[in-house]
Amino acid sequence: MPGEYENTLMQKGLLPSDVEHLKSMLGDTQVSAGSSVRELHSHDESFHAHVLPDVVVLPRSTEEVSKVVAWAYERDIPITPWGVGTSLEGNPIPVHRGIVIDFQEMNRVLDVRPPDFQVDVEAGVVYKDLNKAISNHGLFFPPDPGAAATIGGMIGNNASGIRTVKYGSTKDYVMRVVVVLPGGRIIKTGTRARKSSSGYHLCSLFVGSEGTLGIVTEATLRLVGLPVNFMAVRAVFPTIFDATNTVFQVMNSGLSPAAMEFLDEEVVKILNRDQGLSLNEQPTLLMEFHGFSENGLKEEMAYVEEICRDNKALFLDKGIGQTERARLWEIRHLAHESIRRNHPSLLSLSMDVAVPLSRYSDMVGFAKEQVKDLAAYVFGHAGDGNVHVVVMDDPANRDRWSRVEEANRHIVLKALEFEGTCTGEHGVGIGKRTFLLQEHGESLALMWDIKHLLDPKGLMNPGKFFFMDEEVR
Ligand SMILES: Cc1cc2nc3c(=O)[nH]c(=O)nc-3n(C[C@H](O)[C@H](O)[C@H](O)COP(=O)(O)OP(=O)(O)OC[C@H]3O[C@@H](n4cnc5c(N)ncnc54)[C@H](O)[C@@H]3O)c2cc1C
Repeated sequence: MPGEYENTLMQKGLLPSDVEHLKSMLGDTQVSAGSSVRELHSHDESFHAHVLPDVVVLPRSTEEVSKVVAWAYERDIPITPWGVGTSLEGNPIPVHRGIVIDFQEMNRVLDVRPPDFQVDVEAGVVYKDLNKAISNHGLFFPPDPGAAATIGGMIGNNASGIRTVKYGSTKDYVMRVVVVLPGGRIIKTGTRARKSSSGYHLCSLFVGSEGTLGIVTEATLRLVGLPVNFMAVRAVFPTIFDATNTVFQVMNSGLSPAAMEFLDEEVVKILNRDQGLSLNEQPTLLMEFHGFSENGLKEEMAYVEEICRDNKALFLDKGIGQTERARLWEIRHLAHESIRRNHPSLLSLSMDVAVPLSRYSDMVGFAKEQVKDLAAYVFGHAGDGNVHVVVMDDPANRDRWSRVEEANRHIVLKALEFEGTCTGEHGVGIGKRTFLLQEHGESLALMWDIKHLLDPKGLMNPGKFFFMDEEVR
């Protein structure tokens, strides 16, 4: 029963003797109850309240993770896995305290197999480091959430990013995982074969489960060949409708953009101010294409240009090759940082919804309307129908923050009305729990059953996904 489940959570905190016991299991340097380490693991990149864990452990192997989980589960101690804490919905915040398992010491690339286009990694590998390590094999791991995320955190949130429109999200690349289940049992699930019809796809169950079902310690990831040639385009439009309509037409034309990002005029203004640029302060699309030959890309460029002109593009900046791509795309990577730097005393609520492409234009228009009285920046992975609205405000000012939350709620509900999702890529965490019932209906009860089956004590990253009340029964 959900009620019993809640009661299992330990309320009193770990004793010094518990910390000593963990040290005897792992070694002194792998366990910390110091205040600065606990503070570092008390928050992610969202506005959600900080909660200090009782202790942070840094295992070095799957067996060590298993030992800690078995010991903690026996004693009703909450366990929250931790990548680097770059989530935006409170996903790794240890809201019921207990033990945080940080994977920074499990950061080895275990085996690169170029002929199979595969790599085995530990959960703490940072995806940018992975891409460096495999680039000399002519390979790359495409999901790119921008921040310095770990593979474990990307699997936890099923992260995606600017290249998802062509290459897919994390779930499309996870072939096999090693998981420590609640209670400490170690399982390996998935295969190294490129396809399989063998049984339930348990591997996928753990992707996007945010550490609520088990802890991923190792993964086999699919890789793809590094693209040979690049083309990039920045197109500026008179209205949001013209920009977002272009997205639909490019996607519908048989072209296959590797990235397609939308920035509203407010994002461009802040980039100009913060970075000393002089970009046209109007709705903008950034597009990237990968191709085998330069001539092929030139043909695609002519076609893209035609579509943009048909949609009243006011200005086009374009280029072929790595340097041109870096020049045109730098502004996208600077957007988050510039927004935050321009509101130093405020916090952000990063909204994240995704809708079918045919509704993208309506979704962006609706979102803009909802936040017109707020310090808000609308952008997103347009080719995936993914809209982000970053609002900067002060959570301590209850009236203002209620207004921000109200805008978030309206935007999410509109995305659901459009048969989209309450979270395109940031995950559920704390912030999106309210919307799960509306999005999933009956199947939320099945998710609860799965959670309860695997984690009957409700100790794995508690306080996420479910409210632990009667809502799903
Ligand atoms: C500026 C900025 C831009 C961003 N842009 C994007 C974007 O474009 N796309 C996107 O998808 N995200 C984006 N994010 C969100 C975030 O970076 C990603 O979700 C990322 O994958 C989180 O990785 P992490 O290592 O920080 O994980 P954490 O935040 O530490 O953890 C994420 C979740 O996974 C769980 N977890 C961690 N490790 C494990 C493990 N070994 N086993 C099981 N569960 C685990 C945690 O408990 C938590 O629930 C952005 C964040 C910032 C700050």
